[in-house]
Amino acid sequence: MAVTLHTGDLPADLDLGPVVALDTETMGLEPHRDRLCLVQLSAGDGDAHLVHFPPNVPIAAPRLAALLCDPGVLKLFHYARFDVAVMRRHLGVASAPLFCTKIASRLCRTYTDRHGLKDLCKALLGVDLNKQMQTSDWGSATLGQEQIEYAAEDVLYLHRLHEHLDILLLREGRTQLAAACFAFVPSRAELDLLGWAGVDIFAHS
Ligand code: MN
Repeated sequence: MAVTLHTGDLPADLDLGPVVALDTETMGLEPHRDRLCLVQLSAGDGDAHLVHFPPNVPIAAPRLAALLCDPGVLKLFHYARFDVAVMRRHLGVASAPLFCTKIASRLCRTYTDRHGLKDLCKALLGVDLNKQMQTSDWGSATLGQEQIEYAAEDVLYLHRLHEHLDILLLREGRTQLAAACFAFVPSRAELDLLGWAGVDIFAHS
């Protein structure tokens, strides 16, 4: 695994191909409150690219933003709702098209309620993910080597999970339903940012 650290934006000459795994690290779990600190990306080749946003530097990442809204690039997330909201707020663009491994898992693995990334990696790939750095401080001016390796790992298995989950969605006849849910994620993320985070707008009361 090679991890390349970039500051502020992706480099101009980087081509990550038609399917890109993405994750973010932030100062917390409130997308309207907590600052974006890091965006991790992988082409699915076992390598990762990290874009670090140091504190007190205004975020302007036109190349990353262009990738997020490129209609020819499928973005893979785990729990896309959060990453899409936080990048919508900081980079000004919605992410589409996308595939969310958590939504996919919920739709086709109805025999379990364990849909975390660690659970999926274990159940579908037999891989043990180390989530120890999840709660570390991502807001500092320089990231530690352990943080860098942990952050990179979060995007290394999304391509393989995507392949497994696509097969399960097809088997269960839920491919189209999943696609409709993925297409709604940018709107769901916008509702979160606008103040409807805790509200199911489809609920009767
Ligand atoms: Mn992560």
